[in-house]
Amino acid sequence: MKLKEMILKGIPAAPGISIGTAYLLDSEEFVIPRRKIKKEDVPLEIERFNKCLAKTRKELLEIKGKIADEMGSEHAEIFSAHLLVIEDPILINDVISRIEKDLQAVETVFLDIMKRYIDVLSKTNDEYLRERVSDINDVGKRVLRNLLGTKQETLETLKEKVIVVAYDLSPSDTALMHKRNVLALVTDIGGRTSHTAIMAKSLEIPAVVGLEVATARIKNGDFLIVDGAHGQVLVNPTQENLKKYELEQRKFLAFERDLDALKELPCQTLDGKRIILAANIEMPEDVKSVLEHKADAVGLYRTEYFYMNRKGLPTEEEHYAACKYVAEKMYPRPVVVRTLDLGGDKFLSNLHVPREMNPFMGWRAIRFCLARPDIFKTQLSAILRASAHGKIKIMYPLISGLDELKRANSMLEEVKDDLRKKNIKFDEKIEVGAMIEVPSAAMTSDILAKEVNFFSIGTNDLIQYSLAVDRVNEKIAYLYEPAHPAVLRFIKTIIDNGHANNIWVGLCGEMAGDVLLTIILVGLGLDHFSMSPVNMLEVKRLIRAISFKKAEKIAEKTLKLATAAEVEAFAREKLKEVAPDLAMGLD
Ligand code: PEP
Ligand code: MG
Repeated sequence: MKLKEMILKGIPAAPGISIGTAYLLDSEEFVIPRRKIKKEDVPLEIERFNKCLAKTRKELLEIKGKIADEMGSEHAEIFSAHLLVIEDPILINDVISRIEKDLQAVETVFLDIMKRYIDVLSKTNDEYLRERVSDINDVGKRVLRNLLGTKQETLETLKEKVIVVAYDLSPSDTALMHKRNVLALVTDIGGRTSHTAIMAKSLEIPAVVGLEVATARIKNGDFLIVDGAHGQVLVNPTQENLKKYELEQRKFLAFERDLDALKELPCQTLDGKRIILAANIEMPEDVKSVLEHKADAVGLYRTEYFYMNRKGLPTEEEHYAACKYVAEKMYPRPVVVRTLDLGGDKFLSNLHVPREMNPFMGWRAIRFCLARPDIFKTQLSAILRASAHGKIKIMYPLISGLDELKRANSMLEEVKDDLRKKNIKFDEKIEVGAMIEVPSAAMTSDILAKEVNFFSIGTNDLIQYSLAVDRVNEKIAYLYEPAHPAVLRFIKTIIDNGHANNIWVGLCGEMAGDVLLTIILVGLGLDHFSMSPVNMLEVKRLIRAISFKKAEKIAEKTLKLATAAEVEAFAREKLKEVAPDLAMGLD
């Protein structure tokens, strides 16, 4: 039977076109029919349980070995925790005695026990025990799948190339993903700057987020076309559309190949203003793509991913090794290492920070770090030590005022003193910067500028805070407007205050890679653009096609406009004049 085509519209999150089979990422809530057994079947049921445990153990060992080989042993540690759960004699005895007493099938008993453990552990005050909840949940599902014989591939074991469709993807899901097996990402929730969008760009695969109904409408194995630039997903497309998109895909690849020629050329305007074009990375391995794209620097190394998919916190040595690796690979180009930005939509299972009503406004980023000097100082020490091996700069996220910045700086000084006492080398002239992503910081940037060597504008957050629009909520995504006059005025204030105090100003939110706004940002005087490597060549192409003088005039006119729609229309008109090929995909 021929399947009917269905077109779903969502939010464009990462460019490109992928064509392939849907793989629905398990969000399974196990609903298992309760099954009674006869007394004489008890030994059989116990044998099923033992066999299942052996199978699960084998699987876990295999995955652990594979992840350790491919991503390093620290990322495989989570599977040691899973092994501990299925080897726990109390759990095993509990299941066996309940099968014997209640005469129920092993899956029924196991599910009940798993739920009970999770319930009790979630409520305890003991942090270590609370941390076991996600382990029990993950491994429990694996055991149940094996008991029920449902074939379930997981992200880390995917063998075929698929399009991953999920309600949402947690940072630990994406950390386990491999570009070679994931053709595209499609999610029900999330916005342009949600962590899924950021990860998709970093993996250089197309993504559409905020589709709301993707997991309800798409079935495992459905044939899909994902158009990342336009935020569309075609489910079981017609032959006609398939042909059309295959052509589009070829055009997109050819366009990318054309841009390749720009790699060797400097990022400067027609009248010779040099602008630093830097890359954002999420993992040390991403540096490979940064080098391929010939970026001038790493402008944002989001270190929080380093804390994921592991048991416990990373040690100072592990941190040091990761930062040293990136610094050495990039040398002599600089690397801006951002200190831990936990919270918002990036939760770390191994820290178990309590859930909050309002996580983006809550105990996150620098606020968390200042309250946990043990974690913060360990990271600072590692970054400082790595600075002896390259050009590292340190950057604090979510600074909201002077006191916070001073406290962070004084902790940094304490760590430097400790290192000096121990005769451990670091870059004494290391530059320190603040991310400006909170309106209060933007409005006091004249004051903050005196305490740092640079600013980096975090527009992903600055937009959500200045417009009061949750950056990951697809229902209000239409209000998330980077071109809003309020956002542009904040950016201008920050750049002007930075320059008045002789410090450079960068921008590292997703807006830095949005070609529609490049000319305006250049005209506002931005010194440093940092973005996912996938966007870099387009931005460079545009910067090389305009003079700074002209961009300044355009920015000046833009600042007089009243709405985001007016700004976008004006920006589109100018983009068409300067680089019509770049404007094409934006209509
Ligand atoms: C930002 O807020 O713009 C930013 C770059 O940081 P993150 O997206 O990690 O919050
Ligand atoms: Mg931010």
